Amino acid sequence: MLLYSHTRLKTFEQCPLQYKLKYLDSIPEPVENIEVFLGKRVHEVLEQLYRTLEPEKPPRLKELLATYRAAWEEQWNSNVRIVRRDAARLYFSYGEKCIQHFYNTFVPFNQSATLHLEHRLEFPLDETGTRGIQGYADRISVRTDGVYEIHDYKTGRRALTQKDADSDRQLSLYEIGFRGFQPAAKKIELVWHCLGVGVTLRSHRTPGQRARIRQSAQELIDHIERQSQFPANKTRLCDWCAYRSICPAWTTHGTSRPWYWSSRSSSHESAAIKAPPHTDSHAIKTTQSTSRPWYWSWGSSAHESAAIEAPHYADSHPIRTTHGTSRPWYWSSGSSDRKSEGIEATHHTASHPIWYWLGRLSRKLYVWLTSTNRPR
Ligand code: SF4
Repeated sequence: MLLYSHTRLKTFEQCPLQYKLKYLDSIPEPVENIEVFLGKRVHEVLEQLYRTLEPEKPPRLKELLATYRAAWEEQWNSNVRIVRRDAARLYFSYGEKCIQHFYNTFVPFNQSATLHLEHRLEFPLDETGTRGIQGYADRISVRTDGVYEIHDYKTGRRALTQKDADSDRQLSLYEIGFRGFQPAAKKIELVWHCLGVGVTLRSHRTPGQRARIRQSAQELIDHIERQSQFPANKTRLCDWCAYRSICPAWTTHGTSRPWYWSSRSSSHESAAIKAPPHTDSHAIKTTQSTSRPWYWSWGSSAHESAAIEAPHYADSHPIRTTHGTSRPWYWSSGSSDRKSEGIEATHHTASHPIWYWLGRLSRKLYVWLTSTNRPR
């Protein structure tokens, strides 16, 4: 049985080229967007919460936040790409907020009994069994009134509307899969936790709705399998596409430049071509001098606001981060190469060392002393 998932179908709907790169060519994603990284860490904390839950003794919020912080530090890696203008520290805080909202809404977490966590569901779409759907439900539980619940944690900044919930394909497919696995489940409620805003939405599917969803998923798969061309679909969602740095829609000549080209100079362009696609946006990560994520070296909220105002690559760009007298953060490593890069990137005045000016002065003095026109 060839398996599809909701994410795979959604990827095709958003951009056929991205679908091809990911699922047909199996090209590993060169980067991981920080939204994805954050979502994984929050999901891990909530999974652990229910996995280790003792009904008489629910965990304290600060314990959950400590788990989150430890997971963030441990999993942070140089492939994490920041797309939005916010600094990574703000993403970290946003994840904390998601956990706080969930905690404050559901403590002591006894609204239903957990049956499954990160539960894999798989089922055939039709009687031939050649195509199927697979997916992972965040949590499945049952209430004391006998109603089963399929939960989905959302860490996106936009809250779903009830209309979104009522037409959501992902949990509908999970419900179809769960009904095949648990025929005793008569009533099933689909539950979305919009963690960033602390909103919980619930919805149901009738047998007729489930049949239509199954049918439309089958038709979409048939449509995908008939395709011979997978054109790029350039939209604002490209900012979140892990393949953007290698996408022809962004890198072919004469059209728009790849996002990491911040300069018009030809030398910068060739440097960008030679460099790994995400290099200049991640220059920031190459200067780590401790085991802590780089962004924790920023202590002041003023720096955080500056990062928000700046373009998304600005916090790693030497020209944009060097303000007159104070040294840029990346000079902390002490590397002479970095220092000279910094000198060229900043505008002479405050950043040139004294010997530079002494050298210039002595050369001028020599020219004047050896000049035949000088007064004697
Ligand atoms: S960058 Fe945009 S157009 Fe290119 S593959 Fe990704 S989503 Fe598609």
